[in-house]
Amino acid sequence: MQTRRERHQEDLFVATPLRTLIPEDHILRRVDAVLDLSWLHDAVRACYSQDMGRASIDPESALRLMLAGFFEGIVEDRRLMRRAQTDLAFRWFAGYRLDEKLPDHSSLTRIRQRWGSERFEMIFQKTVEACQKAGLVDGTTVHVDATLIRANASMGSVTKHHVEQVQTQNPMTEERSDEEEKPPSSSKSGKRAGASVSRSSTDPDSRMARSRKGQTFAPRYKQHAVCDDKKGIILDVQVTRANINEGRVLLEQVRRTQARTGISITTLTADASYSHGQNYAELEALSITPVIPPQPQRRYPGHVPTSRFRYDPRHRVVRCPGGKILQRKGRCAENAGWSFSARPSDCAGCALRTSCFSPKASRKVIRIMDGHEALLRARRHHTRGWDTETRAHYSRHRWRAEGIHGEAKTQHGLARAARRGLTNIAIQSYLTAAVMNLKRLAKTTRHPDRPPTTQPHTEQPRTAQHPLTRLLAKISRIHLNNRPTLPCAA
Ligand code: SF4
Repeated sequence: MQTRRERHQEDLFVATPLRTLIPEDHILRRVDAVLDLSWLHDAVRACYSQDMGRASIDPESALRLMLAGFFEGIVEDRRLMRRAQTDLAFRWFAGYRLDEKLPDHSSLTRIRQRWGSERFEMIFQKTVEACQKAGLVDGTTVHVDATLIRANASMGSVTKHHVEQVQTQNPMTEERSDEEEKPPSSSKSGKRAGASVSRSSTDPDSRMARSRKGQTFAPRYKQHAVCDDKKGIILDVQVTRANINEGRVLLEQVRRTQARTGISITTLTADASYSHGQNYAELEALSITPVIPPQPQRRYPGHVPTSRFRYDPRHRVVRCPGGKILQRKGRCAENAGWSFSARPSDCAGCALRTSCFSPKASRKVIRIMDGHEALLRARRHHTRGWDTETRAHYSRHRWRAEGIHGEAKTQHGLARAARRGLTNIAIQSYLTAAVMNLKRLAKTTRHPDRPPTTQPHTEQPRTAQHPLTRLLAKISRIHLNNRPTLPCAA
């Protein structure tokens, strides 16, 4: 029987709790079951006056609104509040009735400024603790990785800044107005002006960077993350300027992670950009097995390779391929190693002189970075070939650590910063990590339509396959797909 519904007939009263209108398997209902924010009021008490001023927005409601937005990848406040106007689940999750006026979007900005990044770090920390209590954190094997976040600044802001700098330094460029719109990386004058000119004037905390060859330089930030091997719980996040090398913050991350979980890390995986001698040495001192492939050594054809200079740690000297001793002269500029220098008289009559160093220099200078012996050990271990267990750990690093960043960017809006400044990006990063941890925690609650399982679900460990095994499997798949089919019997 065909029916017609009267669209403009509105109910005067809604006589049902808001909760009943939201599906039981909705992510916000499942997160609500595991989210405990009873500590929040005490944690933010110092940010509010207790006896003066207008009544504030309930801190828990404000935080719940932000979290609901991040679950859906809505990181801009205006978009979030527009969505909350119409989304029942958002209203219910934040504790607003259907007819209740929602706060203005600018209130969320003021709350973030008032709380500061420390309180958002605390929120993230609480999610780690909750995951740990639920048995989702192992803590002994962790994966470390970094990713770039595009700053909320246009390339135009970078170009203007660049042109101003170049014009101050070189007034001749005033006539070349046709080149002013070019990005700094493609402009010769930009290179002459130095790295300091390549900055955004609208987001001065960001730095020009790119994640791979061929990608355009753009203002970016860098997020450094540590995730647990068991269920991919994020244990630590830190945001820095994009030009900070990830290897320089690794030890800081390790100490913070161990303090946060109270568990000693035994195995740490990271990619080759973390392969600093100091990192290997410090990790060994902390009894952590580093699964970090060393970077390949640079070789220049026709030049004596650095590997032929032998460091003698006992006597703190370097022996060159010509058999001469290079004496220690002082700390390097970055204070991460020592400089060793040959005597000009030794080099003057050496047969290797032309291929050893530049004809303009008077002596050979070589730098031995801190943790050099640990780096050599790591190189030897890698050259001999990693064992199956180490390869399996590194194989898991790929999909765990890199998967975390992919998920944060594609599902939770971390591909581009929503606001400007290091503190704001740190807050965005903490909220994203908190939401991803809560998502994993919510998965532990039983789905209403699914019968309870007697056996707890255990994730099958992915192990590294030998390349030959993978090739044989591929060949057999192709063979099976191309197998001629038998004609059906009539
Ligand atoms: S040029 Fe100097 S540093 Fe180089 S191999 Fe000869 S003696 Fe050694």
